[in-house]
Amino acid sequence: MRTSWPGKMYIDGKWTDSASGRTLPVVNPANGEELGRVALADADDVDRAVRAARRAFDEGPWPRLDPLARGRYLWRLADLVRKHGEDLAMTDTLNIGKPIRDSRGFDVPAAIELLESYGGLADKIAGRCHGTNPECVMFQIREPLGVVASIVPWNYPLLNAVIKIGPALACGNCMVFKPSELAPLTALMLAEMAEEVGLPPGVFNVINGLGPEIGNALTGHPGVDKISFTGRLETGRQIMESAKAGIKSVTLELGGKTPNIVFPDAPLEHVVNGALTGIFCCMGQVCVAASRLFVHRKQHDELMDRLIVKTKALRQGDPTDERNHLGCVAVESHLRTIERYVEQARGERAELVIGGQRPAGPEFAKGLYYQPTIFDRVTPEMTIAREEVFGPVLSVLSFDDEDEAVRVANDSPYGLMANVWTSDGGRALRLARRLRAGKIAINGGGWFRANTPMNGYKMSGIGTDLGLDEAIHEYTGNKTVLYSVLTEKISWPD
Ligand code: NAD
Repeated sequence: MRTSWPGKMYIDGKWTDSASGRTLPVVNPANGEELGRVALADADDVDRAVRAARRAFDEGPWPRLDPLARGRYLWRLADLVRKHGEDLAMTDTLNIGKPIRDSRGFDVPAAIELLESYGGLADKIAGRCHGTNPECVMFQIREPLGVVASIVPWNYPLLNAVIKIGPALACGNCMVFKPSELAPLTALMLAEMAEEVGLPPGVFNVINGLGPEIGNALTGHPGVDKISFTGRLETGRQIMESAKAGIKSVTLELGGKTPNIVFPDAPLEHVVNGALTGIFCCMGQVCVAASRLFVHRKQHDELMDRLIVKTKALRQGDPTDERNHLGCVAVESHLRTIERYVEQARGERAELVIGGQRPAGPEFAKGLYYQPTIFDRVTPEMTIAREEVFGPVLSVLSFDDEDEAVRVANDSPYGLMANVWTSDGGRALRLARRLRAGKIAINGGGWFRANTPMNGYKMSGIGTDLGLDEAIHEYTGNKTVLYSVLTEKISWPD
C-alpha cells in the first residue's frame, strides 16, 4: 500500500515547491493523522501554472496534434489508472474517509472507463458543412478553447479530476487543475501518470491551494479561456463574478436536492435499496444524493419500517475495511454543518426516526463519523427539505397524488437529478417530462458514463463535463468558414 505522496505541485512538466515555501497538511479524517504535506500555492504559483499552460497551448504541439494521438495519451493514462487502481482507491479512502468498497468498486473503474471513452472521443470532434449557394461553401469547425482552469470539490477526488481531464484534453485544450485542498493526493498521482505517459510540458498542471485565497487569481487570470468548476452554489456565484471581466466561458456543476418519488405500484424491495444507496453512499456527500424521499401516504408505514430495518443493518466504521458501508465525513467543519442541520430539523419539528448523532464507541473516537440519519414527517418549507446538507441525512415527505408530488419536488432552487419509482410506464414518462431536473432516473436506472450528461437545471449549474456532444460543446469553440469561389466580382460599391 502506498504510504507517501508527491508533496510538490506539477507545473510545466516539473515538480515544484510553492514560491512562498508554504505547505498544507493532508489529514485522514478517520483518525486525524497527517498523511503528508503538499505545497500551498499563492497567486505567483497560479500565474506560473497559467503561463505554462498558455505556452503549451500557443506554442506547443498539443492542440495541433493528430486527434487520434491525443486520444492515445488518454488511453495510456487509463492503463496507468488501472495498474495503480488499488493505490488510487486506498488513497482517496484514506484522504476523505470514503469506504474502500466504493473507491474500489466504483471510483476507480469509472475513472478508467471515462479516460478510455474520452480518448475515443478525441478523433470524433466533427464540424458541419452547409452548401449556402453554388459559389460559396460554409463550414464550421470545432477548435479547442485554449487554457482551461478546472476546480473540483473533495467528494470524488480521483473521479472529479478525470471528469475534468478527459474532455478538456481530448478536445485539445491545456489545463491548470486545482483539486480540493482537502483531497489533493490522487490528482498528484495523476500528474505522476501524466509525466509517465509523456504529456508535453504545460498541458496538464496541478496546483494545490485554498480556494478563497487563490480562486480569483486563477479564474480571473487573463491567460485562462475557460473555467470548469464543480462545487457549491455560493462558490459558483463567486466564480461567475470573477469570470465576468474576461467574459470567460464557464461550466458550473453545482449542488442538488434530489427527490426520490415512490408510487404505490413500485416494488418496495428495490425502492428500499435505491433509497439507501441514494442517500448513504459516500456518506451522502454526493451532488445527486437523493436527500428527499417522497412516499405515497398509502405506502408510508410499510416503507418506513423496511427502511429503518435496513438502515440499522448498515455497517459503519474504518473506511479501509471492505465490509463497511459507511465511513466518515471529510472534514470537521463539514461534520459541524451536518450537526447544525440536524439540530435545526429537530427544532422545526421533523421527526427523527434513526441516527441524529455521532456514533458512540472507541472505534469512532478519533474519526469524523456521523450516523445515518432519517427524519420523517418533513414538510416542504422545513430547512432540511430545502437546503443541501451534503451528508447522510434523509428527509421523508408524504404525498397523496402525482400533482402534489411533482409540485413539491419541483419546489427547490436545485434541479440536478430526480428519481421516480413506478411500474406504470405512462406515469414514468409523464414525470420525466414534468420534473425540472437535468437527469431523471426511473426505477433506479442510472449509470455513470462519459456519454451521460450531468447538467443541472435551475441553480444546479450551467453545462456539463459529461456527455459526448455536450463535452465537445463545452470544451471547443465554433469557427465558421465562408469560402467563396469568386466567380463573379463583388458588386458593392460599384
Ligand atoms: P466548494 O465550492 O467549497 O469547493 C470546491 C472547490 O472550489 C475547491 O477546490 C475549493 O478550493 C474551490 N474554491 C473555493 N472558493 C473558491 C473561489 N472563490 N474561487 C475559486 N475556487 C474556489 O465545494 P465543496 O464543499 O468542496 O463541495 C461540495 C459541493 O460540490 C456540493 O454542493 C456538491 O453538490 C457539489 N458537487 C457537485 C457535483 C456536480 O456534478 N454537480 C459533483 C460533486 C460535488
